[in-house]
Amino acid sequence: MKMSFHNLTVFKQSKVTLRVTLSRFRFEVQVIKVLIARIKHSIHFLAFFLVLPAYVQAQDVPVITTSHGPNSAAQQAKPYVILVSLDGFRYDYAKRYGARHLLDIAAHGASAPDGMVPVYPSWTFPNHLSIVTGLYPEHHGIVANRFYDAQRDASYSYTDPKTNSDGTWYGGTPLWVLAEQQGMRSACLFWPGSEAEIDGKRPTYYVHYDANVPGERRVQQVLDWLKLPPEERPHLITLYFSDVDHYGHKYGPDSEETREAVHYVDEMMGQLALGVKRLNLPVDLFVVSDHGMENVQGDWINLERLAEDLKNFKSEGALMYGPDESSIEKVYAELQRNANGKFKVYRRSQMPSYLHMDNNPRFGDPIIVPSGPYVIRVRPGKDDVKPDKGNHGYDPRTMITMRSSFFAEGPDIRPGVKVPPFENVNIYPVIAKILGLQIGQIDGNISVLGGILAKPSAQSATH
Ligand SMILES: [Zn+2]
Repeated sequence: MKMSFHNLTVFKQSKVTLRVTLSRFRFEVQVIKVLIARIKHSIHFLAFFLVLPAYVQAQDVPVITTSHGPNSAAQQAKPYVILVSLDGFRYDYAKRYGARHLLDIAAHGASAPDGMVPVYPSWTFPNHLSIVTGLYPEHHGIVANRFYDAQRDASYSYTDPKTNSDGTWYGGTPLWVLAEQQGMRSACLFWPGSEAEIDGKRPTYYVHYDANVPGERRVQQVLDWLKLPPEERPHLITLYFSDVDHYGHKYGPDSEETREAVHYVDEMMGQLALGVKRLNLPVDLFVVSDHGMENVQGDWINLERLAEDLKNFKSEGALMYGPDESSIEKVYAELQRNANGKFKVYRRSQMPSYLHMDNNPRFGDPIIVPSGPYVIRVRPGKDDVKPDKGNHGYDPRTMITMRSSFFAEGPDIRPGVKVPPFENVNIYPVIAKILGLQIGQIDGNISVLGGILAKPSAQSATH
C-alpha cells in the first residue's frame, strides 16, 4: 500500500510534474510566440524606418517650373550663388558646438565671428525678406511674421498660403526677381516670399514649403539644378533649413537637442560644399541665418491686463492697432505707467531711429520693445499654450544673443577674411555685384561688406 501509495504519490507527483512541465512548455511556447510576434513587429517597424527614408529619398522634390526662357548669353558666362539660410542659427553656435563644415567655410572664405546684426524685430520673415531685398522691414513691408494692414483691412500670416504667396504684400525686389528681370534664371528651395509673384516675377524653379522634405534631398536638388544644361541652369539658388530654430525654441539654445540640430545642418552644409566642389563650376556659397535665440524668462505678459483700453484694439502678437488717436494716447500712457521694467513703449513717430520702425503703419501704434527675453503679447490666442523655452524677436543692439551667422566661400570671396558685425541688409548688394545685376534704391550699402570680394586678379587665380 505504502508502495502503491508511494507509487501513486510518485505517479501523482509525476503527473503534477508533467502538468507543470506541460504548462511550463505551453508557457514557454506562448513566450516564444509573443517573442516571434514582437520580432515580426520589430522587423516591420525596422523595415518601415529602413524603407521610409529610401522611399523619401527616391521621391522627387516637387519643383514648380515657371517658364522664363533660357539664361541670356550674357548671363550664362556669370558665376553662381547659393544662398543658404539656417533659421535660428545663433552667431556663436558654429564655434560653441563645433560645426566643423561651417568653420571650414570660414577658414577658406569670409565670416563674421561676432555675428551678423538682424533687423528689428528679429523674427524669421522680416529678416529673410531684408536679406533678399536689402531693405528694412518698414520698406519691404513684412514687418513681422503676423501683422495687420489697416488700409487693406486684412492680416498677413506667414503660415497662411493665401497671404504668404500673395505678392501684393511684399515690397522691394527680391534677389530672384532681380535676376529674372535681367534674364538670369533663379531657383528657390524654400525662402520666405519665394512662393509669391513679386513685381510680376517668380523664380524659374521653386517649391511649396514642406518642412518634411529631408535635408539630404534638399541638398541633392540644389546640386541637380547646377547639373542642368547652362541655358536652364539657375545662377541664383536659395536653400532653407528650419531645424536649429525649431529645437532652439523647444529646448532652448543650451540644450543637447539644439547641439544635435546644429550638427545636422552642419553635415548638410558639408555635403553641399563637397557636392559643389565636384561640379567644377564657379559657385559662391553664402550660409547665413536670420536671427539668434535666447532662454525665455517668465510666463506670458498680456498687455491687455496692463492697459484697459487695449480691449478695443486689434492685435497681432504684441502689435496693437487702435481705433482712434485718443485711445492710442491713453494706452500709450497706461503701458508706460505699468511697464515694470519689462519693456519700453513708444508712439510710432517717436521710435528710436536705429530700429527703422517709424515709417510703416503695419507696426501699429504704440509699439513696445521688450527690455529682456520676456514673452509679450496683447492677449492670449484661441489655443493658448505655455511659452517656448527659447525665443527671439528682441532688439539685437541690446541683446547680443539675437545676432545671426554669416559664412561665405567661393572664387569671388577673399579667403580667411573676418568682418565685424554688420546689418544683414548689406548682403544684397554683394550678391548682386557677384552676379553682375543692376540694383535700385536699397537700405544696404556695398561699402559695408564689399571688402569680402576678391579682386579680379585674385578671382582668376582662384578659379
Ligand atoms: Zn523662431
